[in-house]
Amino acid sequence: MRLPHFEYIEPRTLDEACSFLTEHPREALPIAGGTDLLVKMKQRRIIPQYLINLKTIPAMDYITYDEDDGLRIGALTTIQSLKNSIIVKRHCKILANAASVESSVQIRNVATLGGNIANASPAADAPLALIVLGASLVLARLEGRRKVLLEDFFIGPGKTVLEPGEIIKEIHVPPLPPRTGGAYLKHAVRRTDIAIVSVAIVLTLADDLCHDIKIGLGSVAPTAFRSRKAEGLLAGKKITEELTDAVAQAAVDESRPINDIRGYADYRAKTILVITKQAIMQALQDARLGGV
Ligand SMILES: Cc1cc2nc3c(=O)[nH]c(=O)nc-3n(C[C@H](O)[C@H](O)[C@H](O)COP(=O)(O)OP(=O)(O)OC[C@H]3O[C@@H](n4cnc5c(N)ncnc54)[C@H](O)[C@@H]3O)c2cc1C
Repeated sequence: MRLPHFEYIEPRTLDEACSFLTEHPREALPIAGGTDLLVKMKQRRIIPQYLINLKTIPAMDYITYDEDDGLRIGALTTIQSLKNSIIVKRHCKILANAASVESSVQIRNVATLGGNIANASPAADAPLALIVLGASLVLARLEGRRKVLLEDFFIGPGKTVLEPGEIIKEIHVPPLPPRTGGAYLKHAVRRTDIAIVSVAIVLTLADDLCHDIKIGLGSVAPTAFRSRKAEGLLAGKKITEELTDAVAQAAVDESRPINDIRGYADYRAKTILVITKQAIMQALQDARLGGV
């Protein structure tokens, strides 16, 4: 199927892009890799009059790390760059792991992290890992910049708190404490298919007790989310097999899986039980071995 007609805009700066988006809030959309947007346009689910190519804006593709500030990733960084980055592997392993199971190398080479986040799919991989890493977004608009916790960014499938004229500029992950480990597990028909269920965990140990834990679930609710009840059962406790059974059940209770082309709700609930436990044990092992 052919793409619908559109006008193509090449801004030279982020402000120019924000300005055009502000002037045409209903007619214009930014495009980065186009792996989500062009598919939706071909299917006539979205027909924008203008496409603003963000890839013509310089200096939005970078990965940096500072011990005090943490990890900063430009929104135009590709998923393949995340997967391969030594910095990401060293300081936020689960983000590199999540990127490595996103689609094929052809898609990863053009798909950007900013697009992955703005697309707001509850099944997206890297955004789920970023939620448990405590990431925030720097959003650019004509009047300046604002910061939003990634967890608060998603409000429904394909829906976010992005306001007209705003563009995701940067993703910021604060530094992780010592003895922090993590795990990202995705259950899909094939390893790099869209997730049927995904679980991301970051946990910090203190004297072999679980000092802090973040448990994120994907593909089992309208948005990726943190299962706070499940987290509460582990905080301050020694992690045992029996306790992880209760934690996994709490994660099921907090999810709202649906039947769709990738799986039935029941199947999803059973999968959460299995992979949440696996992910906790993996994250524990990772933290014991030194973690991040
Ligand atoms: C075959 C296939 C397999 C896939 N498999 C997976 C998978 O396994 N896991 C997964 O997570 N995803 C998967 N995806 C989805 C997709 O590749 C990712 O969501 C990708 O990262 C989107 O990035 P992009 O740069 O291509 O976004 P685009 O398609 O360019 O844009 C997506 C949306 O975000 C907006 N946007 C883009 N950049 C910004 C920005 N900086 N600020 C504000 N808005 C912005 C656009 O206007 C558009 O609405 C798959 C896609 C395909 C086609």
